[in-house]
Amino acid sequence: MDVEKYKELFELSEKLHSTLNVDTILGELFVTLKEVYPNYSSHLLLSLENYHHSDMPIIDLEYDSENMTVIRAYESGEIQIETSETCKHAALYAPLKGKSGVYGVIQVIAPEVTGFPDGEAEFIQLLSTSAGSALENAKIHQQSKKTISDLQLINNTSHKLNSNQPLVDTMIYMSEQIKRSFEADEVGFFLFTKDQLDAKVLPGSTPFFFTQQSQIYIDYIKVQFQQDNEPLFIGDLNLPQHLHAGFHSVMAVPVVVSKKMRGFSIIMHQDPYFFPFEAFKLLQSLVYHSSIALTNALLRDELEKLVITDHLTKLHSRKYLDEKIEKSMNIDEEGTFILIDIDNFKEINDTYGHQIGDVILVQVANLIKESIRESDIGARWGGEELAIYLPRVSLESGVSIAKRILYKVSECSDPHITVSCGVSFWKKDQQDTYHYLFKRADEALYRAKETGKNKVVIQGDPSVVC
Ligand code: GH3
Ligand code: MG
Ligand code: MG
Repeated sequence: MDVEKYKELFELSEKLHSTLNVDTILGELFVTLKEVYPNYSSHLLLSLENYHHSDMPIIDLEYDSENMTVIRAYESGEIQIETSETCKHAALYAPLKGKSGVYGVIQVIAPEVTGFPDGEAEFIQLLSTSAGSALENAKIHQQSKKTISDLQLINNTSHKLNSNQPLVDTMIYMSEQIKRSFEADEVGFFLFTKDQLDAKVLPGSTPFFFTQQSQIYIDYIKVQFQQDNEPLFIGDLNLPQHLHAGFHSVMAVPVVVSKKMRGFSIIMHQDPYFFPFEAFKLLQSLVYHSSIALTNALLRDELEKLVITDHLTKLHSRKYLDEKIEKSMNIDEEGTFILIDIDNFKEINDTYGHQIGDVILVQVANLIKESIRESDIGARWGGEELAIYLPRVSLESGVSIAKRILYKVSECSDPHITVSCGVSFWKKDQQDTYHYLFKRADEALYRAKETGKNKVVIQGDPSVVC
């Protein structure tokens, strides 16, 4: 009998050490226990976090006074035996011990006895030691696999952030990665406005953060961060019931660059205590590694905006205007183009100096901005020539806008100046190119100058409009 038992032990050890799979290890352990002790019942009291397996007799290890013997086995790493006179059975608790910890306790109950049979305790200890060290290996293996995948996540994300891609693409990528690896319900990125009063939701955030319902979470996190800049790990967020959209697990990490908090990231899940502490640490490294790259990407976007804006007038650049007109001519039905030139500007410069000349240019630019809508494009064409493109606007409306600007400039400029305008127009059903659109406006402008200035002239129309 003993020989058989030790043969089983030998076979079990071999099997256990040939796998790194926790399910296989535990399965083999139960099979062996059942073979060696068909009359005994065995359970595993497990302390492995997040281990769920319905096929096996596993009970979560709970710390309460009824389980003192189990806890003693777990804490001391030594076998414990408990006998019950009334129920006529003996229970043995053998810790599954590895070199650096105890991973659970096996409970083996021998029925109809007053004490646990001699010799069996020793044998079960050998079984549990063997299973304990196999579990430890599996756990280390799992941890190292997780560490590798965490590092890969950080590495890939940093790489993406540094890869000169548009910020929107990068944020969408980051959000997807975080959602997948943390199994999060919602992921949000926020950027503080200059005064730190408002937090602007960044693209890539999940749609929830663009709804009103998310505001309470954002406000809550903002208040916490205003008190101190420490990352937040909340297992069960307590918010007033009527405002709560049901997210209990919340992690939030500030984006700090040069000791200044630029923004933050929020990750949420409906279930309470959903995220393990490891996830919180990983999120912190992820945000930390991406902070500088994120700020750079933001700055880059700012720079791109600067390039499309003229420094002096803050109107769009010619390059930007060209692109927008070309695009509009591809997708819209019609559009009007206005070329504006300051009359006798050389004289103004000569009389008042170049600096006052600049002030005049800014004044005209501001009058243009005031006279057009968000979807229209006001641009500096070059020198003292300015331009407006009005997508989907008829010639008639375009001309009245040009007239309005002409009038305003003459009324409001100081020192007093006037402008001349050339207006051109395109319509979908007529063959046209943006090159000819510019040319027609330029010719009209030329005619305005020739015929006395301070007027609006329409393409191909020799008559003076204003
Ligand atoms: P016209 O009525 O025919 O347009 O006469 P004009 O004097 O405005 O035209 P011209 O082309 O002879 O001169 C344009 C002047 O605009 C010359 C240049 O010094 C001035 N100018 C161009 N860009 C700027 C600028 O950025 N700031 C200032 N202050 N002057 C500028
Ligand atoms: Mg000119
Ligand atoms: Mg001029």
